[in-house]
Amino acid sequence: MQWTGKLSNCAAKHNDAFGHQQGDQFLIEVSQRLLSCVRADETVARIGGDEFVVLLRNLGSDHALSGARVLAAVQRILSLLSSPIELQGTAHDSSASAGVILIGDRQASAEVLLQNADLAMYQAKAQGKDTYRFFDAQMQASLDERLLMANELRQAIQGNQLNLHFQPQIDANLKVSGAEALLRWKNPTYGNISPGLFVPLAERIGFIKQLGGWVLEQSCIELSRWSQVEHMRELKLAVNISPMQFQQPDFTETVLSALKASGAPPERLKLELTESMLVNDLTDVNRKIAALKDIGIAVSLDDFGTGYSSLNYLKRLSLDQLKIDQSFVRDMLTDAHGAAIARTIVTLGHSLGLEVIAEGVETLGQQEFLQDIGCLAFQGYLYSRPIPAHDFESFARLHMH
Ligand code: C2E
Ligand code: MG
Ligand code: MG
Repeated sequence: MQWTGKLSNCAAKHNDAFGHQQGDQFLIEVSQRLLSCVRADETVARIGGDEFVVLLRNLGSDHALSGARVLAAVQRILSLLSSPIELQGTAHDSSASAGVILIGDRQASAEVLLQNADLAMYQAKAQGKDTYRFFDAQMQASLDERLLMANELRQAIQGNQLNLHFQPQIDANLKVSGAEALLRWKNPTYGNISPGLFVPLAERIGFIKQLGGWVLEQSCIELSRWSQVEHMRELKLAVNISPMQFQQPDFTETVLSALKASGAPPERLKLELTESMLVNDLTDVNRKIAALKDIGIAVSLDDFGTGYSSLNYLKRLSLDQLKIDQSFVRDMLTDAHGAAIARTIVTLGHSLGLEVIAEGVETLGQQEFLQDIGCLAFQGYLYSRPIPAHDFESFARLHMH
């Protein structure tokens, strides 16, 4: 019986922080520690930036006994890798996560085994530092499910399974000022699937460019239709952009061509970005935002306060709007910290000259608290759930200026 353990440590981060020479030394030290845990006929390999594979062999035929041996080895490895690593006189923290797979008599390709070890490692990572997970049947089931769903998702556009819903955005006079487009996927096998689930899946399987492109095209077509309707002409449409979609080198061109093809007015389009996409190369982010703003598109920062919350980018980027995350809105009336955070975001936004909108407003009490602290734009179930295009048109007629 053999097993493969995948260990991930923070060498990559060390590369960023200390330069490549120290990053290399870090990796050498990690490799030496791993080698000290295995016998001469066993294997240690580095297969990615900060990923290692350890292959143990001849563990015996008794399942329980070999499992116990593997467990002891994993614990030894994790404990060795969690002690600080000294580089040029300075101690650096180190930690690892391990995904473990018992190979046994199962006939599986090396590729599949590594993929499964990888999955177990990600589950371990999600549980915190210095942890391990064994690959198990439940993980296999969720992997199969994901693969199936991934295939379905790739066909969702041609299969006419996608559509956009629109959730009204409300201004200081409690009139409708626009909407946020929210993607819906109705699959014949799975039923309605939440975008919170399938948008990250699309990112993982490299489908986000097509999916995001479709959302942009459809949003622009809708916006262009609004410009022909008397009471909808002035409304703005906010479109969610996922981090990986924004990172595409031709992202700005995609937006421009969707606008051009539909004839939608750029000054009615607003893009919702999230904080996580701003941590990368700020110069590139800035260049993209500037190009969008040049043609009149507005930029909003979604889920504000839940991401990295570096105030540095707020200073450097020319945004138009901050969107207070719904978790703060939910807690505002019952939790002093939630209230303080909401108040701080409003003050911060306004002092930087940005509009501030609250999402997830469900009660009148929440709306009144927001008005008290100076937040004068709202979105939430209190006004309307996300609704199909023709329902939004009626809503807008009822709540127009
Ligand atoms: P988000 O952009 O923060 O969207 C707000 C989410 O909160 C939506 O969930 C909306 O239905 C929900 N919501 C609105 N008002 C309320 C309220 O009063 N109470 C509560 N509890 N929830 C409220 P949804 O539609 O399930 O979307 C979830 C997330 O999926 C979105 O979060 C967004 O990040 C992503 N998403 C949706 N559509 C797209 C899309 O077209 N492209 C991309 N990249 N992401 C999308
Ligand atoms: Mg949003
Ligand atoms: Mg949000």
